[in-house]
Amino acid sequence: MQETDKIERFRNMVLADPQNDLAFFSLGKALLDAGQPREALPALMQAVSLNKGLSPAYALLAKSQIAVGDRDSAIDTLTRGYKVAEERGDMLPRNEMADLLKQLGAVVPAATQETLTPELSAAGNIQCRRCGRIAAKMKERPFSGALGEQIYASVCNACFQLWIRQGTKVINELRLNLTEPAAQDVYDQHMKDFLGLG
Ligand SMILES: [Zn+2]
Repeated sequence: MQETDKIERFRNMVLADPQNDLAFFSLGKALLDAGQPREALPALMQAVSLNKGLSPAYALLAKSQIAVGDRDSAIDTLTRGYKVAEERGDMLPRNEMADLLKQLGAVVPAATQETLTPELSAAGNIQCRRCGRIAAKMKERPFSGALGEQIYASVCNACFQLWIRQGTKVINELRLNLTEPAAQDVYDQHMKDFLGLG
């Protein structure tokens, strides 16, 4: 999908449902990707205001604020967002926000980090890519294919269960028809982002 098509699609979605946090988030992301940080700001602020736990939205909001030269607001957003991400175990946004705080010369809150020892690994544990916690591997692969294998090897069961709920929200709020390849791509990308699979 072209950036302009995405922007149009998400703009229609937020007009149709002003409570749709994921649509505001997606609109803000599409605008930022299209090089329109000033236009992205209100959409991302709305996403964070509708859903205070949506940690990736804080990172994008801060990037927009940095892009328009509002360093103080960016530091405030990142400091709040970092706490949210830490509480929720959202490692990827947490680390990204720590890097941005560093780049801005601001204080980075102390991180908690568990270590996967060879003994723990030999006993069938993994370090989860999303939350960073050491946990037992899932009982079985969540689905077949390379992505299922990657999740089995690097995501804890608690985080995968969180994704199942979030995935349903993504399908409903972004009105994805998974029989369309483009919708499947959007879904997979949300899953990879959520689970920290890059
Ligand atoms: Zn986890």
